[in-house]
Amino acid sequence: MVDTPTSPQEKLKALREHFARILPEQIARCRELWTAVMDGSATEDTGKELVRNLHTLAGSAPSFGFAMLGKISQRAEITLKAALPCSHETLERVKGDISDCISEMKRLCEVQAEQVEERSDDLLALTVVQSMQSWGRLVFILDDDPLFCKKLGEQIRCFGYETREFTSRTDMLEGPWDPFPVAIIIDMIMQEGDFSGAEAASTIEEHIGKCPPVIFVSRNSCIEARLEAVKAGGEAYFCKPVSISDMVDCLDRLASEHQIDPYRILIVDDDVELSTFYSLTLQQQGMETRVLNQPLQVVEHLVDYKPDLILMDMYMPECNGYELAKAIRQMESYFSIPIVFLSSETCVKRQLVAMQMGGDDFLTKPIQPDHLVSSVTIRAERMRVIRNLMERDSLTGLYNRSICEDQLEQAAMRARRSGGNMAFAMIDIDTFKKINDTYGHPTGDRVIVTLARLLQQRLRKTDIVGRFGGEEFAVVLPDTDLDAAREVLDNIRQSFSQVRHAYAKGEFSATFSCGIAAYPPTNISTLCDAADEALYRAKEHGRNRVDVATK
Ligand code: GH3
Ligand code: MG
Ligand code: MG
Repeated sequence: MVDTPTSPQEKLKALREHFARILPEQIARCRELWTAVMDGSATEDTGKELVRNLHTLAGSAPSFGFAMLGKISQRAEITLKAALPCSHETLERVKGDISDCISEMKRLCEVQAEQVEERSDDLLALTVVQSMQSWGRLVFILDDDPLFCKKLGEQIRCFGYETREFTSRTDMLEGPWDPFPVAIIIDMIMQEGDFSGAEAASTIEEHIGKCPPVIFVSRNSCIEARLEAVKAGGEAYFCKPVSISDMVDCLDRLASEHQIDPYRILIVDDDVELSTFYSLTLQQQGMETRVLNQPLQVVEHLVDYKPDLILMDMYMPECNGYELAKAIRQMESYFSIPIVFLSSETCVKRQLVAMQMGGDDFLTKPIQPDHLVSSVTIRAERMRVIRNLMERDSLTGLYNRSICEDQLEQAAMRARRSGGNMAFAMIDIDTFKKINDTYGHPTGDRVIVTLARLLQQRLRKTDIVGRFGGEEFAVVLPDTDLDAAREVLDNIRQSFSQVRHAYAKGEFSATFSCGIAAYPPTNISTLCDAADEALYRAKEHGRNRVDVATK
């Protein structure tokens, strides 16, 4: 039985073997076309088809370990293209050269096919990104004040973290340290002395072999203590009373360093083997890919896959890459999506035309895998930044209202198509004006951010969380019915009411009210109205509650 390859590396190897197997056929086809051109039985299209086949081979062969064959194919392509349309005269001139090229390709194919399996994996010799060790969302807390430990633990857990609390250094060192925490919060001043927290941090590496990022908390904001914290490798320093939203922000930052959403790359190339090769090369580096061999379907895939970048072949049977790029750019929503062309086109002038039509980069086939990866990464990264600026609210980082409404529409459309369901929730912080008036506007802002974090942490990745404005939020929950949505949001409501928000003179808590409506049977605007009405009812019935639409 043949094992199905699972890792991108194994798949790449299998793909290369597959390419070596089909290569003789492709060369035989070239030879057949060439014979037809020479004996005059060919139509004009035969010559063109041969050029296209040679072009494809020139681009793909080197990626699968047939570098020389690719070069020769390119030479044949260029020679033949210059001689088209073939007259008796031009044919005479190029005949010998092209025949030689095709024979040489056949020879190289036979010689190299045997070696392919033994070849060192130089083309795959990329530093494979180690899949990040899953550190989960575990946080350690070390403080000799058991009450503080317990309270901080409770607060952090509201945000979807797990905590383990220790009141002595010895207990902490005993762990267990598996799973390894994403961070450890240590009180700077414990019984052993003013900087004993820093000492405790320093012993972790000694005993455990490595140390997670350390966050210090302290009653003391003096520079000496802060310096000790820095020397002990502290990531952050918080004064008590600790602002839970700042703490969770810090934890989120540390946790997210281990879980950047993978870049999504849409590959548009009619060459099945080569596009699979690109796809696997990028997957090896932790990116997500979708391959499209029919370029005209690109628009639907833009909408539902939301790629960060399009990698596009230049010459495809149905259309030109640069025409397609121009068409994509004419759609407002995709005006700024990076498009990287991949082609065997070596003519700089034509490359320039492609760039003018909306390409961001032009990579020449055969492309070195690390060049492909770096070009794609840089541009995808920039796209993420731009997209975040356009789509996200600057205070909370949540989707803004218009993106939220788009997402709601799409989710409803999908529900309609699949006969499934979805829920829509509106959330509004209770008596927020009073919070602002009592504790100040900046503290109010922090409450907004705290709720935003809580929603992000507690909802599924597939749920869309947005800030509708002010202290109002909206959540789109695909594939969720009214009851399930109510349960989830009511849990979040309870957690939020337990969060203690810090202000200059102490702590306070806040609540929210929530209204939920579900699809079907309503349409989008009635769905929004229904959620809004339910929210209004929740307010009327005393706030700090979740109400559902009654249709
Ligand atoms: P209710 O329980 O009925 O929702 O009462 P409320 O006080 O929360 O409602 P209201 O709509 O009267 O007040 C909302 C307040 O939110 C008024 C506005 O000044 C404040 N606000 C809006 N945007 C922001 C913001 O970005 N930051 C802060 N701190 N306050 C904001
Ligand atoms: Mg309001
Ligand atoms: Mg309000």
